[in-house]
Amino acid sequence: MRIFSLSSSSKYGNAYVIWEDTKRPLLIDCGLSLRRLVNALDEIGLCPEDIAAMFITHEHSDHVRAMCLKTPFAQKFRIPVFASPGFWKWFDARHSGYIDPCLVHCIEDNQRVNISGYTVHGFLKPHDAAEPMGYRIDGVSSSAGFVMDLGHVPQSVETVLRGIEYLVFEANHDVEMEKNSGRPWSLIRRVMGKLGHLSNDEAADALSRLVTPCTRQVILTHLSIDCNCPEIAASVVGDKLEACGYRPDIKVAPASGVSAFGA
Ligand SMILES: [Zn+2]
Ligand SMILES: [Zn+2]
Repeated sequence: MRIFSLSSSSKYGNAYVIWEDTKRPLLIDCGLSLRRLVNALDEIGLCPEDIAAMFITHEHSDHVRAMCLKTPFAQKFRIPVFASPGFWKWFDARHSGYIDPCLVHCIEDNQRVNISGYTVHGFLKPHDAAEPMGYRIDGVSSSAGFVMDLGHVPQSVETVLRGIEYLVFEANHDVEMEKNSGRPWSLIRRVMGKLGHLSNDEAADALSRLVTPCTRQVILTHLSIDCNCPEIAASVVGDKLEACGYRPDIKVAPASGVSAFGA
């Protein structure tokens, strides 16, 4: 199972590809400009038409930029799109008629969808958006969980993700860097709040409960460019997991640009 980060940050957008041999790939989020998204797919040897389906986590622009166009990415390339009912309500209020109804699919909390040989399990996560979703994707050889943009990790999320092989997981900020960032206090409070983003320490705590001997790789995502750095995030998470007796491969997705993970 190969996993690609096409971009992973608030500033440059988020999009991820999961691709198991002999199957068509799936795209998680499309928070890049249309041109950047098409170019990034080309870098990994894909045309947009190769994508079997797209799954959207939530409506923040760093996750849906290529959907919020007069001709959305999914409409232009005829890609079915799955998202929560809350997302579609938000989308319809702003971009009604921009996408053919036959491409629009709802996925609800704890619903499983079989598509292109994968089983995709959608689950709600705590974030300040309209029914934001995380996804667990089971292929033939292994499973991957995608959970970015969440303020805390409830038991319900842990239950879905514990013990899977690949964890694509948010480690957004270092708490001290965030507090001393000089950002408006309202923004700092939002980022650090229960519906904001996970700090390195919160990510490490959660991962210490999710990682098992089956875990092959932890891919840290959505790092704040101003309030985090890859070395700090990887060492906070690595130290915590090692203290719990686990030493999975820990990678960090770069803020922009394509990176390959998985195997
Ligand atoms: Zn985001
Ligand atoms: Zn968000």
